[in-house]
Amino acid sequence: MQFILTLRNCDISDQNKDEQGDSKDRLSFTITKRAIEIAKDTALLHGVLMRTKETPNSPEVVSYAPFTLFPTPVPTALFHQALAVQTHFNRLVDRVSQNPAFLEEPLARYEMIALLFNIYKQVQQEHRPQSIVLGLNRSDYMLDHSPYGGTSLKQIEINTIAASFGGLASRTPDVHRHILKVANLPEESNNVLDNNPAAGLARGLAKAWELYGSERCVLKFGKAEFSEIILIYVCRTGSLDESRRLFVDGREIAIVYFRNGYMPQNYTSEKSWEARLMMERSLAVKCPDISTHLAGTKKVQQELARRGVLERFFPDEPETVAQIRATFAGLYTLDMGEEGDKTVAMALANPDQYVLKPQREGGGNNIYGSEICEVLENLKNSTERMAYILMDKIQPVPVQNYLLSELGVFGAYVRKGKDMVFNECVGHLLRTKSSEHADGGVAAGVAVLDNPLLV
Ligand code: ADP
Ligand code: MG
Ligand code: MG
Repeated sequence: MQFILTLRNCDISDQNKDEQGDSKDRLSFTITKRAIEIAKDTALLHGVLMRTKETPNSPEVVSYAPFTLFPTPVPTALFHQALAVQTHFNRLVDRVSQNPAFLEEPLARYEMIALLFNIYKQVQQEHRPQSIVLGLNRSDYMLDHSPYGGTSLKQIEINTIAASFGGLASRTPDVHRHILKVANLPEESNNVLDNNPAAGLARGLAKAWELYGSERCVLKFGKAEFSEIILIYVCRTGSLDESRRLFVDGREIAIVYFRNGYMPQNYTSEKSWEARLMMERSLAVKCPDISTHLAGTKKVQQELARRGVLERFFPDEPETVAQIRATFAGLYTLDMGEEGDKTVAMALANPDQYVLKPQREGGGNNIYGSEICEVLENLKNSTERMAYILMDKIQPVPVQNYLLSELGVFGAYVRKGKDMVFNECVGHLLRTKSSEHADGGVAAGVAVLDNPLLV
């Protein structure tokens, strides 16, 4: 089966069709404009929708979200490995978030992080009124092909704030099943897995709301684009009472879910930082709270990969440590000192083997290839280099059609005081992009939604 076509408003060009070559025969199905129409229609029918670039705020004009025409083969064992390790990653993130010594040392220095870190320090010094923690995260992986043969699952990163596509990923399986049936591949259509991360994430939210113990509303950041406005709105109309219950517009808030707030441009004024601090200091359950947000940074990811560190978080669980560590790619510090100097030399010698990552989220921020040399030549003797980490570049062998896939696994957990009362792996997400793009996700317009077809 061939999986070349991706639907994106719509980029099925004649050139694409030519590139398919004999794959058309193997499909026993000619991918005609008609099939593509059916795929798009099915997407609309199942709610695989997004707003358009031209009219981003129109409640009337929507289009289908970009997706592959067919699901992509993923080795069964590696898929299950990713699901099996998710509840351990949930616990790891949670334990890191509760370990000030571990978080503080590496994080105090970054510009964006420093501002978040200020908030962290302030709430750290106060008595924290809320013992309930809600984590909704997504751990992302690529399949790394060793030059010596064999494929392994390697973690790209873990997102502890605004981990997206749980909703759309719940809807794409039906679309792919239908397309496979139309393509006269009913057997394959049975192999598209059920997936409902939205339901699992909602169970986490519901559990936290229940534990908050009062029938009050949930504050959800409706549209990511409006986060700045919402922060200012919270700052203007929000308040804490004497028990630090959070009220916005006169209504008590049980849960603050951050759909955004991880990019510097979300905090354009002092007011938005004040809003974040107010929410953080409040009794409302934060998803994520500031320390869980920081636990998801790339610097922390790199520190966790150091020898002996996972053992500190799971002293009595060698199996858990092994399961987590098996997914780690090489991660290297760029701190000042001998170790960091070694990283610089390594990167300069073989830039194509690495990815240079700043402390950012949201795609499109990483540095690759010769640009790594430019950046490091400039920064190698400056403390500014510490704003980055270096990571082994995962080398997935592109399938015939030069598409690369990234598998995400959703986790949800709720802790009350010392008790993990809820800890689940709640679903998955497959995103696929053309191998010509080094970086970028669905929102950045590079990757498209996909589903694993276990092989
Ligand atoms: P972000 O938080 O911005 O999403 P990521 O670490 O996920 O940061 O990097 C963005 C994209 O860059 C990933 O979706 C992936 O396509 C690519 N990428 C990141 N790290 C690696 C790596 N080690 N090897 C290959 N590609 C990578
Ligand atoms: Mg991220
Ligand atoms: Mg990412």
